[in-house]
Amino acid sequence: MQELSRSDIQCILDLSEQFIELNRQDNKKLRDLQGRTQINLFFENSTRTRTSFELAGKRLGADTINMSVEASSTKKGETLIDTAMTLNAMHPDVLVVRHPDSGAVALLSQKVDCAVVNGGDGQHEHPTQALLDALTIRRRLNRLEGLTVAIAGDVMHSRVARSNIYLLNTMGARVRVIAPPTLLPSGIERLGVEAFTDMRRGLRDVDVVMMLRLQRERMQGSFLPSVREYYHFYGLDHEKLSHAKPDALIMHPGPMNRGVEIDTEVADDIHRSVIREQVEMGVAVRMAVLRLLVAGGGNGNGGDA
Ligand code: ASP
Repeated sequence: MQELSRSDIQCILDLSEQFIELNRQDNKKLRDLQGRTQINLFFENSTRTRTSFELAGKRLGADTINMSVEASSTKKGETLIDTAMTLNAMHPDVLVVRHPDSGAVALLSQKVDCAVVNGGDGQHEHPTQALLDALTIRRRLNRLEGLTVAIAGDVMHSRVARSNIYLLNTMGARVRVIAPPTLLPSGIERLGVEAFTDMRRGLRDVDVVMMLRLQRERMQGSFLPSVREYYHFYGLDHEKLSHAKPDALIMHPGPMNRGVEIDTEVADDIHRSVIREQVEMGVAVRMAVLRLLVAGGGNGNGGDA
């Protein structure tokens, strides 16, 4: 996301809009990627991202294969490059890769001949998550520019936060991050955000509240006194939400820990929570990304433009 320009982002979001309509029809099948091979290579667990990339590829007509690989910490580097070389020899057209190490996907992309999509690398980036978030916001609030978006929770370990910060800044939104001091990376302001440790102050008058999961699998050592205390100060409940704009959107990338970072009623608020819509937008955005990378930017009828 860090490398994408405003017009790149706009182009992906505009193309995604077409796929939202398609995905709501009975017949969802296109032929844009017919004859192309997509391999989803996941070194880390995933529910939404893997499933939606698989659906996205299949709906575009690609042959889609899933590979889940246990990443043993001692063999990590070797496994990654070896696997990349092996897959490369099978002439895939696109690899979608998730890996627990920051930078691993970029490294892998240098070793293969095909397109590579980052499905999440460590705590670095998760670009398609930021794109689907942007699409969800744009459809609900009709714009991104000028909005104030609060990203709250475990900012330190969150690739979702980083990708969203890059995208929202590029698109002219104002970004706030809210976290306990232990989960707020020092110098985060350099990314162009305003940082808060007081959730009520951070939420004041925002248009969008994006909650983040506590990434316990990435925490070495103790970052929090207790989950109960965390919920008390940083869990999104109706009272804290009342500090945001009255119609502020509630977002969460999933998986959600109800009662940890978000109150269950807030998560299910049918007027303000767009969490399920985010999942729907995920398929459309991933179709757009695959189409643009593998078949180019044509009109969707042949995919060879
Ligand atoms: N699903 C998102 C990710 O893979 C967010 C999360 O796991 O908390 O980064």
